[in-house]
Amino acid sequence: MLKILAATSNKHKVIEFKAAFAPLLKKMTLLTQDDIPGFPEVSETGSSFEENAMIKARAASAYADMPAFSDDSGLEVAALDGAPGIFSARYAGDNASDADRIAKLLADMQGQTNRRARFVCVIALAYRGIDVKTFRGEVNGEIIREPRGSFGFGYDPVFVPDGYKKTFGELGPEVKDRISHRAQALEKIVAFIQAELDSMDDFEFE
Ligand code: IMP
Repeated sequence: MLKILAATSNKHKVIEFKAAFAPLLKKMTLLTQDDIPGFPEVSETGSSFEENAMIKARAASAYADMPAFSDDSGLEVAALDGAPGIFSARYAGDNASDADRIAKLLADMQGQTNRRARFVCVIALAYRGIDVKTFRGEVNGEIIREPRGSFGFGYDPVFVPDGYKKTFGELGPEVKDRISHRAQALEKIVAFIQAELDSMDDFEFE
C-alpha cells in the first residue's frame, strides 16, 4: 500500500492532516514524522510560503524515501504590508509564545483602521527530493483589538473570518476545519492524490 509522509512536528497540524486524509486511508497509509526516527531539521530559507513548504517536503521525501508533504503558513496583514507573512512563527522572537506574538501584532496595528488580513497555507508535495506540486489555501478576515476564544493556536483569537462575527479561537474546529486556509489547501492535495490513486493501480509520481 502507498505510504505518504506528512512532514510536520506541529501536533495541531497532524490532527488536521489526519482528518483530511481519512477518506483515502483504505488505499494509502499516512505516516507522520514521529514514525520516522532521526528526522532532519531543515531551515526555512525561502522567500515565499511555496519555497519554504517545498524545502521541507523535498528534504522529508529524500530522507524517508517516500512521497512527502509539508506546509508553510502564516498571517498577512494589509496595514503591515503583508507582515508577519512567512515570519509569522518568529514574529516576536524565537522563544516567544502565541500570546507574545498576538501582543506584538496588536501593538504594531495600534491606530490602524484597516484591519484586513488573511491566513495563507501552502502545502508542498515532493518525491525523492524533487518537486511534485504545491497547493494554496487562503482565508480572508479582520484582526480585532482584543483576543477572544481559546480554541486553535497562533493568531486564532484575534482573527475573525469574513462572514462570521466570532474569531477562529471562538468558532472552534467544526467551523475552522471547514473554511480555513489549511482546510482549503488540504482539500486540494487530497483531491490530487485521490485522482492519482484512481488513475493508477500502483501509485507512482513518475
Ligand atoms: P509554520 O507554518 O509552522 O511555519 O508557522 C506558521 C505560523 O503562522 C504559526 O506559528 C502561527 O503563528 C501562524 N499560523 C499559521 N496557521 C495558523 C492558524 O491556522 N491559526 C493561527 N495562526 C496560524
